[in-house]
Amino acid sequence: MNINTDLQQLKGSYLFTEIVNRTKAYQTAHPEARILRLGVGDVTRPLPKPIIDAMHNAVDELASAETFRGYGPEEGYEWLREAVVENDYRPRGVELEASEVFISDGAGSDLGNLSELFTQANRVAILDPSYPAYVDTSKMAGREIVFLPSQAENGFVPELPKEQADLIYLCFPNNPTGAVLTREQLKMWVDYAREHKSIIIYDGAYECFIEDEDIPHSIYEIPGAKEVAIEVRSYSKIAGFTSVRCGYTVVPKATGLQAMWMRRQCTKYNGTSYIAQRAALATYTPEGKAATRANVDYYKETARILMDGLRKMGYEVYGGKNAPYIWCRVP
Ligand SMILES: *Cc1c(COP(=O)(O)O)cnc(C)c1O
Repeated sequence: MNINTDLQQLKGSYLFTEIVNRTKAYQTAHPEARILRLGVGDVTRPLPKPIIDAMHNAVDELASAETFRGYGPEEGYEWLREAVVENDYRPRGVELEASEVFISDGAGSDLGNLSELFTQANRVAILDPSYPAYVDTSKMAGREIVFLPSQAENGFVPELPKEQADLIYLCFPNNPTGAVLTREQLKMWVDYAREHKSIIIYDGAYECFIEDEDIPHSIYEIPGAKEVAIEVRSYSKIAGFTSVRCGYTVVPKATGLQAMWMRRQCTKYNGTSYIAQRAALATYTPEGKAATRANVDYYKETARILMDGLRKMGYEVYGGKNAPYIWCRVP
């Protein structure tokens, strides 16, 4: 056999595992240290009651023959896909068909799996810094990567790639810098992708933090984006689904990839848990919306407190607006 040497040679451990290991080592060496943990998972609030109630009901349904659910549709239940179209897109003037929405077990899985739609011979453009999944999955697929520096100097908005980029990973509001794109800035990327026949994989995990009117919530608010963009969303940040696991990916028919993605999911994915999908549906009820709104406000307040504190201490701090992330220059 020939193993995947690109995967084998991937250096170091996944960022978040590395953070856990370093924290542990520091704690062992300094048992007296008071560590303020702001890492992955640690700051998530408990699930709101309307969502817990929906999960309890779903569990009870599975307990009786009349309401039991077995394998569901690989692409997710229609009631959830319709709710996504109705609540997350239509109010923004974006019309999607429910068949273009694919329910997943979280954005993380799909961000990796989408890689299978494309051959190795695609050059990938990725913001630097960025959420680690884009780089790692591109390396596992053996693809060439072009890094696009996004720093304070360019307002954390990188320039368009100078060379042909076939796949482009964009994440706005950005993890980790907290940067956002205006409609005009996002349009430049859509235009680039149309001109270069590229595909943009748009990670909208933090969409719920957007408050300014001129910041687009979805890449599909930009004319022509349906032909060149796949959008990935998650219930992890808006509703605390980090362990429940549910998200969705929009693959518009206009990309020419919708049927392929359906085929891939039907073969390799047997659908998201019924309980998780019922929980996700509950985020769209009036009670669910109020509860998730309160969660998002809480995270925003945390970001504000951190930002104010760091600024008072004399640090240069960015982000924190339309995003839960702040980016701080360390000496
Ligand atoms: C948290 C996060 C994800 C993963 O979300 P899950 O749905 O929990 O897998 C994806 N992208 C970004 C930028 C994130 O911060």
